[in-house]
Amino acid sequence: MKKARVIGAGLAGCEAAYQLLKGGAEVELFEMRPHKKTPAHVTGDFAELVCSNSLKSEDVFTSSGLLKREMELMDSLILRCANAARIPSGSALAVDKERFSEAVQRGLARFSKLTVVRRETEKIENVPQIIATGPLTDGGLMDELQKLTGGAAYFFDAAAPIVSAESIDYERAFFQSRYGKGGDGGYLNCPLDKDEYGRFYEELIAAECAEIRDFEERAVFSGCMPVEIMAKRGRDTLRFGPMRPVGIRGIDGKRPYAVVQLRRENAGGTMYNLVGFQTHLKFGEQKRVFSLIPALKNAEFLRFGVMHRNSYVLAPAVLKETFALKAEGYGHIFIAGQLSGVEGYVESAASGLVAAKNMLRILPELSDAQPFAPSKGTETGMRSHENIANAPQFMLSRETVSNISQFMPPPETMTGALCRHIAYAEAKDFQPMNSNFGLLPPLEKAVRDKKKRKEEYVRRAGAAMDEYIKNERK
Ligand SMILES: Cc1cc2nc3c(=O)[nH]c(=O)nc-3n(C[C@H](O)[C@H](O)[C@H](O)COP(=O)(O)OP(=O)(O)OC[C@H]3O[C@@H](n4cnc5c(N)ncnc54)[C@H](O)[C@@H]3O)c2cc1C
Repeated sequence: MKKARVIGAGLAGCEAAYQLLKGGAEVELFEMRPHKKTPAHVTGDFAELVCSNSLKSEDVFTSSGLLKREMELMDSLILRCANAARIPSGSALAVDKERFSEAVQRGLARFSKLTVVRRETEKIENVPQIIATGPLTDGGLMDELQKLTGGAAYFFDAAAPIVSAESIDYERAFFQSRYGKGGDGGYLNCPLDKDEYGRFYEELIAAECAEIRDFEERAVFSGCMPVEIMAKRGRDTLRFGPMRPVGIRGIDGKRPYAVVQLRRENAGGTMYNLVGFQTHLKFGEQKRVFSLIPALKNAEFLRFGVMHRNSYVLAPAVLKETFALKAEGYGHIFIAGQLSGVEGYVESAASGLVAAKNMLRILPELSDAQPFAPSKGTETGMRSHENIANAPQFMLSRETVSNISQFMPPPETMTGALCRHIAYAEAKDFQPMNSNFGLLPPLEKAVRDKKKRKEEYVRRAGAAMDEYIKNERK
């Protein structure tokens, strides 16, 4: 018997359900819409794109183009349907949202082993499952996640942009912690003189913000304050806030007029986060205005700041790279999609794909451990329990788990790098991550030219993925 539950028919959940069904499993797919909507979804359709209709660039020499190519090689339903629903959009893969959702729904409906349960999941039951309820997860399920992950499920409402380390102008930046606390390697300071600050300030307060919906407005004011809103409170507010220069001495030994601190985003030091620069500016405006910071003049933005409600688990503390829970005895529960700490439509689908392929490998090991209590898709079919820890577990001992081979593309691939980032990034200050070249291990031989460097990353990733898929098929 191979049976699994998928919670959430979004990008990750639909991809996961498809991979499970294709692998011969029986799937129960729980979706709360249309009965209960999220603040962003407007239809009851599967795989609804909540905002932009763009799945970003298709150019293989971009990180998201590379991820797409890998997804195609792994037979992603989401990618196939996006291609079928494409509309002209230059080098980006943009889709007709309705046609895209219809295609995903059709792609799943052809499997007789699929049962769709249109109901909100509020309890996490002790069955093999992939939880993919997205960044707007809340209510009972969010409480359950808090319990299940030892309180490590986070509710976060703001993110600052991330730039690539190699694009920073180190002539205009220096490493130093405020008051020298914790050594000097932690923060990279980007100073501004009075004139530079003035120009930056004027452009920041005049810059255009992304549209704010009701639910986002609450998040803005209850949580972290976006830098542009803070700036509007007064010319010097930022100099007393995230750009305060106290405790910092410039290269000339003097305190700068203002400073932007960058913090390393990953262990390899290839990405930096603009500390305190959570923002709601349009992406183009972020690039234009933040590039006025002298050290960031030519900065490459790996991820733009976003401002919306965002639930996710503290993945490095609780998830394996397969997206299964780390805790012994809970290896049959996976968390995928944005809730797992990836960011973006295609990234969410990729995590659903990897989770499902790994679920397929553990399902045969579970069958003798505990019978699966079938849900008939009715209220009465559901079991409930106070806390999953008190329920009988599908015991997957460490030994059993270590004997199951994982589905895990190599670290040189975008998919493999993203999965590993989720499991091994710094747990403290962890925030959702999208695909980007900074996740990949450095090239053996440094390549100075940016274009050539990307080509080399892509060539290496392509060779690694082709080899992996070839061996998988054997
Ligand atoms: C407002 C907003 C705008 C975004 N814009 C973009 C963008 O333009 N580009 C981009 O790449 N990424 C964007 N993202 C980020 C992210 O890529 C998307 O949220 C993406 O849809 C995540 O995929 P997912 O499968 O994890 O979640 P979702 O696609 O949100 O799917 C989750 C599904 O679970 C269902 N669900 C939730 N709770 C329950 C429950 N308790 N029981 C049953 N079903 C439940 C939901 O109804 C939904 O169908 C945005 C996110 C938000 C919140």
